[in-house]
Amino acid sequence: MAADLFDVAVVGGGPAGLSAALSLARARRRVIVFDAGDPRNGVAEHMHGVLGHDGVPPTSLLERGRREVEQYGGLVVDGRIERARVGPSGVEVDGPSGVVRARRLIVATGLRDGLPAITGLQEHWGRGVVVCPYCDGWERRNHTIGVIAAGPQGIDQAHQLRQWSDEIVYFPNDVGEPGADAVRTLEARGIRIERGRVRAIRSSEGRVEAVELDDRSVAVETIFTATTLHPRDRLLRDLGARTRDDADGSWVVVDPDGRTSVEHVWAVGNVVDRRSNVSVSLGAGSLIAGAVNADLTADDIAGSLRRDTAGER
Ligand SMILES: Cc1cc2nc3c(=O)[nH]c(=O)nc-3n(C[C@H](O)[C@H](O)[C@H](O)COP(=O)(O)OP(=O)(O)OC[C@H]3O[C@@H](n4cnc5c(N)ncnc54)[C@H](O)[C@@H]3O)c2cc1C
Repeated sequence: MAADLFDVAVVGGGPAGLSAALSLARARRRVIVFDAGDPRNGVAEHMHGVLGHDGVPPTSLLERGRREVEQYGGLVVDGRIERARVGPSGVEVDGPSGVVRARRLIVATGLRDGLPAITGLQEHWGRGVVVCPYCDGWERRNHTIGVIAAGPQGIDQAHQLRQWSDEIVYFPNDVGEPGADAVRTLEARGIRIERGRVRAIRSSEGRVEAVELDDRSVAVETIFTATTLHPRDRLLRDLGARTRDDADGSWVVVDPDGRTSVEHVWAVGNVVDRRSNVSVSLGAGSLIAGAVNADLTADDIAGSLRRDTAGER
């Protein structure tokens, strides 16, 4: 493999990376995908809101995607990439079986969710404890839903979930007492407020049963909370990609085509975009593939002209 030159190396075989790889392989580009095998929604049993794939296990989509990439000659390799280097004409990636050279690099490594430090929350993550109403709200409709605040946006989350259930319980936890206006709007919509420190989540036979406060326990069937987003962007940062800070933390900057500030290096999906759900990641992967292919075509034209001028044709 070391001697091979690929057109594109993709790091990350989730929806974003595989979608980009599929379009590029179909464009007859030589593509290699490296994947560590732990997609963000890997904890969920089913995926929702993805047209044509609603209710499908997330892993089934990715297994099928891998086969589709391979069907057009793309390679999909299991393994985590820790290092890549950029040179004048492309990139080098330290793959599991040696160095792989490629003309372009797409990083699609996703993000990691950090949960509030509450006993039992992690254990039910992706099942009884969820984050996204569009992904999991329908299946929890009419449940008694506890919203554990992880910041001021917890109040918005409680209001939003009200359309899925009449039984919403808002736990301010250590975010503190909502302001008078917020209390009025929550109460006006029939959202109960349970004040106090959340100590733990109680469950039985794998099902969430209650939120335990210091002095009492409140029955719930499902918990929604917010997570701290940690983009898995170390490769990009090590390559010197430009970043920006916003309310959600620090993110690598890409242009509308997914191009980073580092020559030959592109990024797509949750690693650079918090809003990139599965459908958006699939679309963004396809979009970036077109832009990367156009960049390679420009490079192909320049190469042909150089050879023509040198009389090598
Ligand atoms: C609990 C939960 C449920 C969700 N349910 C839904 C849903 O129902 N519908 C929906 O649309 N969205 C859902 N989402 C959001 C969805 O998971 C993301 O939108 C989607 O996974 C983003 O795709 P991605 O390709 O950017 O990243 P990911 O899917 O996270 O894929 C990134 C891939 O890169 C690999 N990787 C990371 N680092 C490296 C490295 N250094 N080297 C090699 N490989 C690496 C990872 O192993 C992973 O396979 C859910 C999220 C969560 C947390």
